[in-house]
Amino acid sequence: MSQNTSNKLVFFDKEKYRHPSTYQLLPFSFTHHSDDRYIISNDSGEYTFLTQDELGRVISRELSPGSDLYLNLKGKFFIADTIDDNLLNLLATKIRTKKSFLYAFTSLHIFVVTLRCDHSCGYCQVSRQNVANTKYDMSPETADKSVDLVFKSASDTIKIEFQGGESLLNFSLVKRIVLRALEKNKTANKNLQFIIATNLSNITDDQLEFCKLYNILISTSLDGTEDLHNANRPLPSQDSYKRFSTNLERVRSKLGYGGVSALMTTTTLSLQRPKEIIDEYVKLGFRSIFLRSISPYGFATRTKNLSFYETEEFLKFYKTGLDHILNLNRKGIELSESLAEIILRKILTPFPTHFVDLQSPAGVGIGAVVYNYDGLVYLSDEARMLAEMGDKHFALGDVHQNTYAEIFTNPILVNALNQSVAEVLPGCSDCAYKPFCGADPTYHYRVQGDEAGHRPTSGFCQRNMGVIRHLIDLIESGDQEILDIFYSWINRTSVRETKELRS
Ligand code: SF4
Repeated sequence: MSQNTSNKLVFFDKEKYRHPSTYQLLPFSFTHHSDDRYIISNDSGEYTFLTQDELGRVISRELSPGSDLYLNLKGKFFIADTIDDNLLNLLATKIRTKKSFLYAFTSLHIFVVTLRCDHSCGYCQVSRQNVANTKYDMSPETADKSVDLVFKSASDTIKIEFQGGESLLNFSLVKRIVLRALEKNKTANKNLQFIIATNLSNITDDQLEFCKLYNILISTSLDGTEDLHNANRPLPSQDSYKRFSTNLERVRSKLGYGGVSALMTTTTLSLQRPKEIIDEYVKLGFRSIFLRSISPYGFATRTKNLSFYETEEFLKFYKTGLDHILNLNRKGIELSESLAEIILRKILTPFPTHFVDLQSPAGVGIGAVVYNYDGLVYLSDEARMLAEMGDKHFALGDVHQNTYAEIFTNPILVNALNQSVAEVLPGCSDCAYKPFCGADPTYHYRVQGDEAGHRPTSGFCQRNMGVIRHLIDLIESGDQEILDIFYSWINRTSVRETKELRS
């Protein structure tokens, strides 16, 4: 600025402010990664590594035009010769593609058809009820109202997932919902899919026949070897694993191998046994495993012997497990790890994933929503679990009392979404791992008291950052075989996409 003859402050011509260098900086974040290496990334998902000296020279705009580093950074939209409409349009297209999960709105609709369950798992994420306690079943009226709401979603794809408790204990209602949804879809013409989450302990031939008839997928739980599975997932008859493995064969012979997938939950009993757990999945013919940490909800918080461990312990378990899975792949055994697969898709492709906790904003309500047995609608499965613990903070409405618009514009949902935009969250906004990460407002509300949370002390952040850093190190290790394995994982699609949504 300068003063003119009439003593008024005026701006110099804009050319005066231009840096003498030939290039300009585009927005990016940088984070110390290891030793003398800094990772820089931008919102289009591009990343690269720089030494501290290189980072300083980039920011001071001292790079020589035409140098390898200059061209690399220019190609990845970290710097530009000139910022014009063509460049901005290209960048906007890349960012729009990364955020394309926002176009569809809610595609996964979870129906909690009963809280009854025959198992008494120590980490159970809901307040399970006794098998005879039918007052915790969803009523037909609530089911019908919920199906009507499902079909108000703008999404072209509708996935209805049945959960419990043990969902098959209320199978008559499952059938009613499937048939009503199919009827409604005659005019709605959605891509309609069904998934039943079940422990498989009592699945009947009639139920399997129904699944076959309507292409219903099965999502089940396997925690590892027989002793581990039985310890984590106790039945009074102490034969949870035997029932599981026997019925798995029955399901596969009816629905095919692709018709059933399994999820595992990591407890303290699992921590020392990642290889055995993974080998069990291979033995039983699964082609993917999801090494999942425990959620801080429901009975998980009350049975600390099974459920309480530090994030560092989980990361050690995870890395050992991933290493073992890579070795199996090297020997020709096809097995992917689902969390890695989701994050790798974000790192190695221009596309987003639909994993609700690894999106920004989070997928709560807009990716997945829960219709509880009592008619209340929750923005996520974790929010419903929180309600079972006595806190209904995330209830969006009641299917009997509220319209679709009232439920999906509820200020609770709007606030949760506002508080889950990583690009503006304290801690995340500056983090270079942000394009590969996400936000989880339910977790942070539960653990830290508000939806935004505090990243330096967040287990969610520690786990995600640990896994993302490890995967990037593996990608950058120069081992082409690892890269080939990773690409083979992200090019496979199937039941796992559904698993992505529900987790
Ligand atoms: S949660 Fe942690 S790792 Fe993820 S973007 Fe935020 S600060 Fe980075």
